[in-house]
Amino acid sequence: MPGFNTRVIHALHGNHLDAVVPPIHTASTFLQPTEGGEGEFEYQRGSNPTRTDAETTLAALEGAEHAFAFSTGMAATASVLGLLASGDEVIMGLPVYGGNYRWASIELPKRGVTTTFVPDLNQLTDEHFTDAVKMVFLETPTNPTLRVAEIRRIADLAHSHGALVVVDNTFLTPYLQRPLELGADLTVQSATKYLGGHGDLLAGVVATNDDDLAATVAQSQVILGGVLSPIDSYRLLQNVKTLGLRLDRQQENTRKIVAALREHPSVARVVEPGSFSDQEARIQSEQATGNGAVFAFELTQDKDVRAFLAELKVFGFAVSLGGIESLICLPAHMTHGAYSDEDRALAQIPENLLRVAVGIEETEDLIEDLTHAIDAA
Ligand SMILES: *Cc1c(COP(=O)(O)O)cnc(C)c1O
Repeated sequence: MPGFNTRVIHALHGNHLDAVVPPIHTASTFLQPTEGGEGEFEYQRGSNPTRTDAETTLAALEGAEHAFAFSTGMAATASVLGLLASGDEVIMGLPVYGGNYRWASIELPKRGVTTTFVPDLNQLTDEHFTDAVKMVFLETPTNPTLRVAEIRRIADLAHSHGALVVVDNTFLTPYLQRPLELGADLTVQSATKYLGGHGDLLAGVVATNDDDLAATVAQSQVILGGVLSPIDSYRLLQNVKTLGLRLDRQQENTRKIVAALREHPSVARVVEPGSFSDQEARIQSEQATGNGAVFAFELTQDKDVRAFLAELKVFGFAVSLGGIESLICLPAHMTHGAYSDEDRALAQIPENLLRVAVGIEETEDLIEDLTHAIDAA
């Protein structure tokens, strides 16, 4: 199989005459054969040529049989969590993205589905599985604490109890981690983040190698309707071609910034994938080919976090991640504001933890911006 960047750039090779980029088909409906039967495309919600091109490209990144493009990451998650029915239980890692947490705390209870949060999924045992457990839903590394869970072990355990494993792979993307190859049944991603990569697009992806699950997800696109538009499909399939290049650069910036912050006397601690324990460091190095470009840190007690944020000139103070511009946020007050105090404590998200999403700007400018703001705070 060709390498990652070759696959992504040539996924549609030969599909559109000799055009190096595909056309955008905006038609809402397609004329059908009057003698009966169905044309290749029927109505845009079900499928359309440009979304199919995006899905072909997304499947190629993942090395997956099937990929589906949604209007947002949450629409992708909705179709996967919609597999659960009344009486089912789901085991969820903690922390998870705030939107995934809202699904567990607000939406699933309405449907009669119970969620059990397990803060350290590496401690998952047979005891956690009742007959009602139908799914394990996890993020690794976690947002924003960068804890690492061993996908292969969790998948083996879940499968021995007849439960599906879903991994939200937004933070590492298939460029750095491919959960389907590690035993996961489904992956979801917010393509708003690294796949889109330029802060100008909301999108989501579900991928799987299981034909039956794929048919159910395709059906849910038609039923729930949260599909990616042709124009955004085109934007996504163009933007994603530079994913590998962007992440190489973002990871290089991240390594240098992390090293600089670790040396700084006013930085209390820096958190990145694998930094929690030797065990997690081993798992991370075995199941992923890089740490990605999100890390977190805390300032020492004498520093005022809000004053630090006000001094930043290059880093933007905003939620989201994965774009070419560097952003910083306070998860306890922003992305994870929906958490109950109890669950936030269980998830170990400190009040003043800063989450950093590193972009592709010049390394020196980013380090200078952070150190200047820390010193001035
Ligand atoms: C942003 C995000 C989502 C939600 O994606 P949207 O595109 O904003 O709907 C889901 N999971 C993770 C880990 C995210 O960071």
